[in-house]
Amino acid sequence: MDPISAIASQVWACKTCDNPLLRDMDRIAYQNFRAVHGKGFLFHNAFNVDFGKTYERQMTTGWHSIRDVYCNRCNAYVGWQYEKAEHETQSYKVGKFLMEAELLRQASGAIEKLQARL
Ligand SMILES: [Zn+2]
Repeated sequence: MDPISAIASQVWACKTCDNPLLRDMDRIAYQNFRAVHGKGFLFHNAFNVDFGKTYERQMTTGWHSIRDVYCNRCNAYVGWQYEKAEHETQSYKVGKFLMEAELLRQASGAIEKLQARL
């Protein structure tokens, strides 16, 4: 496998049950974010997840409408999705997933396998 496809096949799985939730290639590499359990990563997309109800949360960057994201196999909380941001500067986050680094585990697995589980 060449280095590029090796990177592309990296996935992030639920730490509790190993369900693959994210592709490393979907990670937005601006910076690390602050999440509830410590460090958080921002992703364009997530797989194999369920959503909670939309609610508002005050953050250091202003009010955001978010909904919590859960692993669809074991129901563990793993992060949230941004639905709306108060400030224009934060609008790049809308629709994106802020995932808790502490609750994920990096694994390698084919993307095809991940997509087949959708
Ligand atoms: Zn899980």
